[in-house]
Amino acid sequence: MELRDASGLWGRGTRETERLIKRELGDEKHISVACIGTAGEALLPGASVKADRNHGAGKGSPGAIMGSKLLKAVAVRGTGKVPLAKPEALVNTAVEWEGNVLLKDVSKSVLNQAPAVSLKDGGISNTYGVRLGKRFRVAGKNMTDPEWGDGFATRFVEACARWRIVPQPSYNCKIGCAYDVHIGDGQFAGMVVSTCGGGEQHEGAAAMIGVTEADAGLILVDLYDDIGVEAGTFGSIIAMAFEAYNRGYLTKSDTDGLDLTWGNWQAAMDLIDKMIKHDGFGGKLAAGLKAAPALLGREKGLADEFNRITLHVKGAGINIHDWRPFWSAIFGFVVAGTGPSHQGWGMDWIPEPQLGYSNVMPGVVDTQEEALKKVDPVRQTQFAKLFGDSLGVCMFVTLGVKDSLRLSSRALAQAVGWDDFTPHEALLCGERVTNLMRLVYARRGFNKSDEFDVSHRYLEPASAGPSKGKTIAPYLPAMVDEYYRQMGWDIETGLPLPETLQRLDITEEFAY
Ligand code: SF4
Repeated sequence: MELRDASGLWGRGTRETERLIKRELGDEKHISVACIGTAGEALLPGASVKADRNHGAGKGSPGAIMGSKLLKAVAVRGTGKVPLAKPEALVNTAVEWEGNVLLKDVSKSVLNQAPAVSLKDGGISNTYGVRLGKRFRVAGKNMTDPEWGDGFATRFVEACARWRIVPQPSYNCKIGCAYDVHIGDGQFAGMVVSTCGGGEQHEGAAAMIGVTEADAGLILVDLYDDIGVEAGTFGSIIAMAFEAYNRGYLTKSDTDGLDLTWGNWQAAMDLIDKMIKHDGFGGKLAAGLKAAPALLGREKGLADEFNRITLHVKGAGINIHDWRPFWSAIFGFVVAGTGPSHQGWGMDWIPEPQLGYSNVMPGVVDTQEEALKKVDPVRQTQFAKLFGDSLGVCMFVTLGVKDSLRLSSRALAQAVGWDDFTPHEALLCGERVTNLMRLVYARRGFNKSDEFDVSHRYLEPASAGPSKGKTIAPYLPAMVDEYYRQMGWDIETGLPLPETLQRLDITEEFAY
């Protein structure tokens, strides 16, 4: 291991940083680079760590953590081998698992089968939004206009059908959800945009501020990835500012002259530049997804108004889609131990027979009794996801994939040389992680009211679509209590009971 001076890279974007490091080390093929861009250097909320151009991690603003330590990049060259206890058996399991990952069930709609199927080879470029069915909604204009979101998705898919899409899989990945778009016409013809595989970055950067043109939206995505920022948090801050401007809460005199009319992507770029420099209005937004609207609301005497147009869970941005037609996903964001992220999504969109649920549930329901039925599936998927995360595998090789729990458990046993390791033990592993996260919460002063730190925008009924006129809000307190009960947590504090920790073999030194 070697530490190198990064002063020559400071101030550069993620793409340039990666290119220069690979050139300096003289080994483009075998080196992977994880780095931050100017957003991480500026400690901006949502700052991400980008890896090998099309990939990265953004939840929890890890780029800001690296920036605070003046750590610009980590470059690795793998030269060793991973010792495996039973390599042949493991390969057989991997082959079976891989076959299941891309198994198509023609009897089901695209939305109800493993996402790997529709994401294969940059597949989001042709399935995004409308082709996933009317239940899926794009978070258009700060989640105020689902109908507009349909058009956004349609324009994107139609444009991508004209342009060249080149999959950019992670190492050894057969899905390849990440891709490059070679823009073939219009004002950005000839540009290549490298992006990850889901729609969140595109939606958070462009749909949330009402950008109409598909190519301009992609250029914004490229900027987000180059400065190194994820769109859930960062895009929601900018979208809040756009909505405030369009509602007249802010004027040009507040925005340093920027015209934040919906769709003005050039103004968004100028605003991003100001945020990186902590300059004027940009500096105020850089305070964060909760702090910025609170500050602006105080200054303008419009605290309630700003509060109502902010989209967050516990102060962080969600994975940007309009999840209001899928209450299990909303609930999963609320109870996720990392702040809002895909941990437990329940059964509203993909069935998981291996977890005891062969059918999807209605995403939006009318009674508390029906709402409470969503709690156990969220827990089960949370345990399964956290086991997968502990293995270090991509969520798309487990989510909705036939027998993935059995196969991943077996693969672990074969890799390390255990006689067996059952799916039940795998779920227990996920349950332990869920509890350990709660113990971290406890050390950070969590109390139950923090569970309900969910923004108004997320809980208000949608103006169109399956959740029109309906909201999870009245059922949320009972769902949280039921979740605590099923978890073996104290209903009053939301923290694990001693007998729960004992059952999970979590020793006293970890307990609060
Ligand atoms: S590992 Fe997962 S996130 Fe990475 S390219 Fe493959 S499917 Fe996409």
